[in-house]
Amino acid sequence: MSNSIDKYLHKQMDKSAGIEHTHHRTKIVATVGPACDTYDQLLELVKCGVNVFRLNFSHGAHEDKKRIIEHIRQINNTEPYNIAILGDLQGPKLRVGEIQEGGLDVKRGDILTFTNEKLVGTMERIYVSYPNLHEDVRIGNKIMIDDGKIEVIVKQVLPNNDVQVEVYLGGKITSKKGINLPDTKISLPALTEKDYADLEFIIDQQLDWVALSFVRNVNDLVILRQKLKEKESKTKIIAKIEKPEALTNIRDIIVESDGIMIARGDLGVELPVEQIPLIQRNIIRKCLHRAKPVIVATQMMESMIDRNKPNRSEITDVANAVLEGTDAVMLSGETATGQNPKLVVETMRKIIMEVERTEYRYNLEEVLTPQPHSPSLLSDAICYNACKLADDVQADALIGMTQSGYTGFILSSYRPKAPLYIFTKEKSLVNQLSLSWGVRAFFYDEEEGLDDIIFDQINILKERGFLKPGHVVVNTGSTPVALHLPTNVIKVTKVE
Ligand code: PGA
Ligand code: MN
Repeated sequence: MSNSIDKYLHKQMDKSAGIEHTHHRTKIVATVGPACDTYDQLLELVKCGVNVFRLNFSHGAHEDKKRIIEHIRQINNTEPYNIAILGDLQGPKLRVGEIQEGGLDVKRGDILTFTNEKLVGTMERIYVSYPNLHEDVRIGNKIMIDDGKIEVIVKQVLPNNDVQVEVYLGGKITSKKGINLPDTKISLPALTEKDYADLEFIIDQQLDWVALSFVRNVNDLVILRQKLKEKESKTKIIAKIEKPEALTNIRDIIVESDGIMIARGDLGVELPVEQIPLIQRNIIRKCLHRAKPVIVATQMMESMIDRNKPNRSEITDVANAVLEGTDAVMLSGETATGQNPKLVVETMRKIIMEVERTEYRYNLEEVLTPQPHSPSLLSDAICYNACKLADDVQADALIGMTQSGYTGFILSSYRPKAPLYIFTKEKSLVNQLSLSWGVRAFFYDEEEGLDDIIFDQINILKERGFLKPGHVVVNTGSTPVALHLPTNVIKVTKVE
């Protein structure tokens, strides 16, 4: 790893668009909201570095989402980008109902009563959107309200099934605030009625990724996977890790999903906050080992919602997530409702690029050697060695081909220093791979001999201004082409 990264950071000219952009490897996910939902605003964010847009199904109508989706598709069709769209399902999120005007000021020692009877909340009774509350809670369980700002403890279940609690941490309860029950095994299904309706919309609209909130175990994902399969949907699944229960099942959840989001917002309510940094580090490492893309989410640049500069701690947080090897960092309110989404994305990208230019650990071979027991050992070993080879020859491009996506995800997981280009004839993958670290994906469906394919791919990259004569390229592929075998070939080429 002696060669300098600087050679890869020359400005790459994308001729097809006449724009110049240096490529950040760690991807940026931005949540769309009223602050950035016009065509021009979305395009501006893309030009500043957004790779994936998140649509949060906890808010807004399908109609508005549809308009945003059309804008993003329009950008993909007319500009040289493959922006992925991630539909984020609310999942079994619990909330209090309407609260009387002015809210409720509760203080330590106050007794409150939660009920599943729909009514306007008062100091006497408060509606909670969880019919089984009385069956699932145990005396002494904690209930957190409004991102954990208020904490109450279950005292008793009354004969009418209302649940009486005592306030431990006081504050103001206002309408529709979220509720978390860290100690309680919630019996709600993984997908609520609302989620099913949203999922249908997501499948209809052929979004690239669907995220499920509050995943507890593998079964939650199996249900979602089944639903996607029924509809022959190619949408890939992201499991949001935001419950302690999910952590005890984390290995299987990573295996069963296509990607992971470390949803630090709710995770920080459900767990002691001091545990989050190491959980984050651990999950990222596990995802790298399984070649599953992972997103670090929530409050990354929170202070920029209403300011022009991030807190120093936020800068460090983004940089550390990049150093830990995350595939992507996510913006929520910062872009959805913040005062200057463009500035936030620009700032985040600068932080990413600075780390990638200096301290980044490329070529993770020492932690990611191919696993002898892996069913894909042979192709894993090819991809692993392609990355090593690309490093040895200081390649200007590492090119992979994939039909299932696997080669794309695994090449990315080695975090190669050479720019990574993935060609695929599977249209859905072109956008999906935008979430993966370092990947630039292209649609390509010719099936002549491997030599011709490689020649073509190099030419495409030349056309786009990513390669020049004299550059060195490492390709992976598979022969005989017609058999569509897993990756089984490495080739080195000097560009003519
Ligand atoms: P949310 O998920 O923004 O949908 O709640 C992210 C998180 O909880 O961190
Ligand atoms: Mn959440």
